Amino acid sequence: MTSQSQTRPALFLDRDGVLNEDRGYVSRWEDFRWIPGARETVAAFNRAGWLVFVVTNQSGVGRGYYTEDDMHALHRRMAQDLASVGAHIDAFYFAPHHPEAASETYRHPDPPDRKPNPGMILRALAEWPVDRDRSVMIGDKPSDLEAATRAGIRGALFPGGDLSRFVADQRLPT
Ligand SMILES: [Mg+2]
Repeated sequence: MTSQSQTRPALFLDRDGVLNEDRGYVSRWEDFRWIPGARETVAAFNRAGWLVFVVTNQSGVGRGYYTEDDMHALHRRMAQDLASVGAHIDAFYFAPHHPEAASETYRHPDPPDRKPNPGMILRALAEWPVDRDRSVMIGDKPSDLEAATRAGIRGALFPGGDLSRFVADQRLPT
């Protein structure tokens, strides 16, 4: 049971194109480049008492380009690097399934977690004490915003550039 007073707003972040440059199926730290202002944005929302989640489609796993272990290793490196600036992600949610996945394990005609489906966000809402009305999803694709809308979360479309400036321009409350 969670009372309203215990809930916190959540910032849902797409990964590729919002936190890091989307170079297509990024799976190695050597290829990972933070978006300007991304780490500072996470830190600012942490300080403001928000929950911060990554919700990322990772069909590269389903397609066999890299493994879940590779992806977890990359997320650990991201977390270490964020910690060095006093920032943290509360949970990483990922969607490895794809309709044309090479492996049957990851093949699904319409994966419920894969954006634009809202599965990852709904899972976070079920697992954490989130104040849905004050929460925001930042994505760089319409499918990110559709997932947010279908989960009852406000969406903001990031056009690129500096993420902390975008957050300020959107008047997101940190
Ligand atoms: Mg993206």
